[in-house]
Amino acid sequence: MIKAVYARFPERVEAARKVVGKPLTLTEKVLYTHLFDGKAKEAYVRGKSYVDFSPDRVAMQDATAQMALLQFMHAGKKQVSVPSTVHCDHLIQASVGAVQDLATAKTINSEVYTFLSSVSNKYGIGFWKPGAGIIHQVVLENYAFPGGMMIGTDSHTPNAGGLGMVAIGVGGADAVDVMAGMAWELKFPKLIGVKLTGKLNGWTSAKDVILKVAGILTVEGGTGAIVEYFGPGAESLSCTGKGTICNMGAEIGATTSIFAYDKKMKIYLEGTERADIAAEADKVAKYLRADDEVYADPAKYFDQLIEIDLSTLEPHINGPFTPDAAWPISQFAKAVKEKGWPEKLDVGLIGSCTNSSYEDITRAASIAQQATTKKLKAKSEFTITPGSELIRFTTERDGLLKIFDEMGGVVLANACGPCIGQWARHTSDPTKKNSIITSFNRNFAKRNDGNPNTHAFVASPEIVTALAIAGHLSFNPLTDTLTNEEGKQVKLDEPKGIEMPVKGFAVEDAGYEAPAEDGDKVQVKVDVKSDRLQLLDPFPAWDGKDLKGLKLLIKAKGKCTTDHISMAGPWLKYRGHLDNISNNMLIGANNFFNEQTNKVKNQLTGEYGEVPATARAYKAKGIGSIVVGDENYGEGSSREHAAMEPRFLGVRVILVKSFARIHETNLKKQGMLALTFANPADYNKVQEDDSIDIIGLEKFTPGVALTIVLNHKDGSKDEIKANHTYNEGQIGWFIAGSALNLIKQTQGAH
Ligand code: SF4
Repeated sequence: MIKAVYARFPERVEAARKVVGKPLTLTEKVLYTHLFDGKAKEAYVRGKSYVDFSPDRVAMQDATAQMALLQFMHAGKKQVSVPSTVHCDHLIQASVGAVQDLATAKTINSEVYTFLSSVSNKYGIGFWKPGAGIIHQVVLENYAFPGGMMIGTDSHTPNAGGLGMVAIGVGGADAVDVMAGMAWELKFPKLIGVKLTGKLNGWTSAKDVILKVAGILTVEGGTGAIVEYFGPGAESLSCTGKGTICNMGAEIGATTSIFAYDKKMKIYLEGTERADIAAEADKVAKYLRADDEVYADPAKYFDQLIEIDLSTLEPHINGPFTPDAAWPISQFAKAVKEKGWPEKLDVGLIGSCTNSSYEDITRAASIAQQATTKKLKAKSEFTITPGSELIRFTTERDGLLKIFDEMGGVVLANACGPCIGQWARHTSDPTKKNSIITSFNRNFAKRNDGNPNTHAFVASPEIVTALAIAGHLSFNPLTDTLTNEEGKQVKLDEPKGIEMPVKGFAVEDAGYEAPAEDGDKVQVKVDVKSDRLQLLDPFPAWDGKDLKGLKLLIKAKGKCTTDHISMAGPWLKYRGHLDNISNNMLIGANNFFNEQTNKVKNQLTGEYGEVPATARAYKAKGIGSIVVGDENYGEGSSREHAAMEPRFLGVRVILVKSFARIHETNLKKQGMLALTFANPADYNKVQEDDSIDIIGLEKFTPGVALTIVLNHKDGSKDEIKANHTYNEGQIGWFIAGSALNLIKQTQGAH
């Protein structure tokens, strides 16, 4: 597959250069090479053009894979159209230590794991068992390749940019499309260039580059943009260090981040048994970097340019509560005092998908070692989350985990654990303000342990280790000393890292299950009594008639994000069970008529009830319903449940002032009608007891508005116009009942 991708590069990049009419950045080269319909016919406008792409791979984590694969089963395909993998990493709770926690997770989540393993086996999807590692680390070690394009159902998918890939986090619906062989749409991104000069030294690491960038760009500064790193400093960073930087690009809202192919990537590919890929990449190396003119005058080619000198960059600590609150370590102690953050450090946590490379672990271990040699007793709790079994096994073999053990550290399972709140933290008093520091990426309130009183800070693994030894936040290992057990003042030496294991990587059981060659006979296993998983029935096709007599379910007022439509939190456990999760439909939306959430009028009884129950009441009587909304309806993270739930509960139409585009597309994919008021003021004409007709569907045509009749309770009517953005193909989805139904029909499968 990779050879075929590289074979396309020269021709497609040259063609793109002609249409763009100027030298190309690396990002543009990769994007233009992955156009769904082949060669570029036009120069796309950054931040404006919507373009269809064809990614090379799909990766899914276990929480988001459930609904994606339940849907994929309806595509009528024998196999996925592009190489795809599932990674069991999000559902393992950290409590006492790796072995016991993993065993507990396997019992609790057994039905989910059994389903994911069997569905992967059937459809040609690689399955990484619980304990195998965290999706992004496993992808970096096994699948990422320079110049490739990947989508993943997780926001830190951009980690693979460390190995030169355009890797983008998406919702499950997008993964289904790509696995089913459809195009994947993306707004052509803006480009932010980050020029790195100088060389890291002392305590400063790759993590500090992104902590600094987060401080400059803030949590929104990368929105709609791809961040491309280059310059001599970039070439000096290890491949895994580049991965750390790209991983945390998610924290500035960037679509993804990327580095050009270089010697460090070659070393990493060769060290992870992929010398053949490095050899192929060498042949097209000039296409796996920007044109020389771009590097010579970057301001001319990027929409925004940032320069960072690695030689003078200080270690940073970011937080609390947001990853863009960036503090150089020399100013941090002062900030801790001034802001009144709890100075005592309760826990230091290293590892995760962001920072568990061999280099990271050796640098942190070189600090931990000094706890023993300098007779310092670590004052804070300390945990280590290896990113993969490959890393865990290798670092154990090389005696590194033993060093952490001697410091009092606990090795957790190779999984997300405390990074995503899967942490049974042993706190004596959760109501007390407290501080923790991690080498993870996100530190929003409650993320790690569900406790709003926890102040979470983010830093490099070596800084986390040093602070855990000191036991307080105001310690600056670059300048301060600590009192050891003999009462002497000692100073920690600078960390020392080893980029790649001298004896090579090793593993006994990486935790991978290859799929069956022929999945025909494989049965997908779902327990009919399960309350976490449920096989889906295809949504019914359109009956060819106008929609008449739809009951108004809710007229939502103000912000209505995907979180208002399908809340997260405790509902996440039902992600694989459409019927159960539908009980959260629109429960966060504000009802225009009473300004309350989850309280709407049931027109059949005149009583007020919960939104999902009211929708179910209409559905039970065979009556369709309609949801009316305000501006930017469905903004927020792409969540296919927010489109599937209304469809499942009998809502036929979502009529709003304006849509967030991704949600609008998700609704179309599920066979819903997504319409906008031609005149936004008509929103005010919708009344609580309305029955609503949608007229003109028999001639449903791109660009032609539909007519909506609002039948009011007093017998009066309002006739208004509604616009839509359906193209021919999308009208086909509506007619078939969903995009997947249409794919299935066109394959003649049943
Ligand atoms: S370790 Fe954290 S950031 Fe990484 S995939 Fe898991 S939850 Fe996401």
